[in-house]
Amino acid sequence: MNFLPLLEAKRDGQALTAAQLRETVAAFTAGRIPDYQMAAFLMAIYYRGLSPEETAMLTLAMRDSGEVLTFPNDPRPLVDKHSTGGIGDKVSLPLAPLLACLGFRVPMISGRGLGITGGTLDKLDSIPGYKTLLPAGRIQEIVRDVGCVICGQTERMVPADKALYALRDVTATVPSLPLIVASILSKKLAEGLSALVLDVKFGVAAFMPDAAKARELGQAMVSLGKECGVSTRALLTRMDVPLGRAAGNWLEVKESVACLEPARLGKAAFAAAPAPDVLELVLACAAHLLVQAGKAGTLEAAHRTAMDCLASGAPRQKWNEMLAAQGTDLEAFERKLTLDHTAPVVLEFTAPKAGYVSRCDGRLIGQAIRELGGGRLTKDSVIDYDAGVDRLAKPGEAVSEGSVLARIHAGDLARAESARAALATAFEVSAQPVSKEPLILEVLS
Ligand code: URA
Repeated sequence: MNFLPLLEAKRDGQALTAAQLRETVAAFTAGRIPDYQMAAFLMAIYYRGLSPEETAMLTLAMRDSGEVLTFPNDPRPLVDKHSTGGIGDKVSLPLAPLLACLGFRVPMISGRGLGITGGTLDKLDSIPGYKTLLPAGRIQEIVRDVGCVICGQTERMVPADKALYALRDVTATVPSLPLIVASILSKKLAEGLSALVLDVKFGVAAFMPDAAKARELGQAMVSLGKECGVSTRALLTRMDVPLGRAAGNWLEVKESVACLEPARLGKAAFAAAPAPDVLELVLACAAHLLVQAGKAGTLEAAHRTAMDCLASGAPRQKWNEMLAAQGTDLEAFERKLTLDHTAPVVLEFTAPKAGYVSRCDGRLIGQAIRELGGGRLTKDSVIDYDAGVDRLAKPGEAVSEGSVLARIHAGDLARAESARAALATAFEVSAQPVSKEPLILEVLS
C-alpha cells in the first residue's frame, strides 16, 4: 500500500473515506505500514481531528481488524464498563465480580497503562499466576461459568487497537478525542454487549483537561455506542486527585480487595479500608448498568441493590473464582495480601504543618509513580509492580504536623527519595478548611 497520499491528505485536514480508513487499519495491522508512518498519521489526527463519520468508520474498521466475541443466549445480559484512564483508578477490579453477582455477564477486555495513567492489565499482572492473555474460547467459558473475566485482547481480537495503543503511548498522541473514541469503542463493540457504562475523566491527571472536553468525548462515545445498538451511558468524573488511597499496580489490587470485603465497609480509619470515592464510583457504575438493563426501576433502588450485594460478601468470593479461572495461585495471592508492603523500600511523606489537605495533584503523583517504575516510559519499559504510593491523604482531610500524607513504595532508596521530593510539590496543606467537590459531575445518556 502507498500510504503517503493518505498521510498527506490527513496532514492537510482532508476527510478520508471508509475504504481508505479500512485499508489503513488493515495494512497497519498486517505490518505493511511502518511505525514511523503510522506515528505521523496519529499526530496528523491529533492536530486535524476526525469528523464523527470518520471516527465511526475508524472505530468499526478497528473492531473488524480481528475476531469479535460471540456469546450464547443467556438470561444474564452482557455488560461492561470502561474508563478513559486516571491515577489510582481501580474501579474495574471490584466492579466486574460485583456485576457478575448482580446477574450480569461481564467480558471485560481491558488495556495497559497509557501515559501516566494506570492500566487494569498491569494491575492484574501483579497477582501471582493471573493470566491476562486468554484465547477467545476460554474467555467465553469463564464468562459462562464464572460470570466475569478481565483480560486483554486476544492476539486475534482488535489487533489494530493493540498496536495503535502501544504506539500512541510513546508518541504523545493519546489525548485525541477521535483516537480515544475509536480505541475504547472498538474493543467494547467486539464484546457483543447490550449495555456499557463509561467513566470519562477530566482534570489535571486525565487526558481530557476540563469538563467541556470530557462532555464532548462522552457525548461522542454515547452517540456512537447507541448507533451500534449498545445502551451506553457516560459518567463525567473528576480526576484532579488520585482515586482512592493507593496508586501503583499491586497497591491498587490490595485496595480493590478491601472494597470487596464487607467487614471493612465504612471503616475509613483502617488503612486498607475501601476509600469512599472508589466505593462511590463502583456503586454508581453498577447502579447505572442495573437501570440500563431494566433490572432496577430507579437509580436509588439500583444503588441499594448493589450495596447490599457488596455487603453480602458474594463479590469477594466471585473475585477469587475469577482469579482461579484465570490461573491465579490463590494461596500465594492471599498470602501476598496480608503483607504490609512488597516493595523493598517504604518511605513516609509527612505533613510539614497542621491544617487541611488542599492539594494532592494526581498528575504529579502519576509521574512520580512512573518514575518509580510503576508505569512505562517507552514501549519496552519493564514494570515494577510493587512500586507506588498508599495511605494518600485527600483534599479536605485534616492533618497534624508530621502525619502521613503518603507512603512511597520503591525498589531502592534513591528512587524512593526522588519520589519523596516529587511529592513535596504535589501536596499542599492549608490553614483553612477545604470543601470537597463532587466526584461525579454529570451523567450523559
Ligand atoms: N482507554 C483506552 O482503551 N483507549 C484510550 O485511548 C484511552 C483510554
